[in-house]
This record gives sequence, C-alpha cells and structure tokens, in this order.
Amino acid sequence: MCESAEETPKHLFITCSVARQLWALLKVAVDFDLQTQSLNGLWEAGRNLKQTGDRSSRAKVSQSLVPAVVWALWLASNSKVFRNTRVYPENVWDSAVFFLSNPGV
Ligand SMILES: [Zn+2]
Repeated sequence: MCESAEETPKHLFITCSVARQLWALLKVAVDFDLQTQSLNGLWEAGRNLKQTGDRSSRAKVSQSLVPAVVWALWLASNSKVFRNTRVYPENVWDSAVFFLSNPGV
C-alpha cells in the first residue's frame, strides 16, 4: 500500500507503514501493543486481547478491533490494487470503526 515494498501478507498487515500507523492508533485506543513481526503473533495477540477483556462494552469493542483492522487493511489494499485509489491510514481506521459500529454490514 505504501508502494515501498512487495505486498506480502506480512507486509500488508504488519510492516507496511500504513499498517504500523493503524497499530499505533490501536495502541492509543485499547492499549494493544503489537510486539510481533509475524502473522501468527498478530492472531495470538488478538486472542490475548480477547482473554484479558472483561464483559464491558469497551472490552467487546477491543475484542473485535484486531480483526476489524485486518479486514480494513485488506479492503484498502484491494481497492488500491483494483481501483488504484490512494490509501490513507485515517480512512482505513474509519472503515475499521465503521465495521464495528455496523455489525450487520
Ligand atoms: Zn506497504
């Protein structure tokens, strides 16, 4: 998406500058600290977020944030590939939040 590297899944979801900005936002939002450099580590971290969450609505939202961000990154990269749209991290974040607030979409 950043056009600086080959688009592998690992790049798209972890090392891409767009992805890194998303994870930085997530850290501020729910204190999700992505330490890993591997996709397995990412899923693992998402699951751990789930386990430590309580039943508050805030915890429910944070449980869904990692998959929502991954999904939003994936859509953004598709739209970049097929429609050549520019990718802005804020827009990716907005669509991740949109998925969360519109679960039926
Ligand atoms: Zn990139």
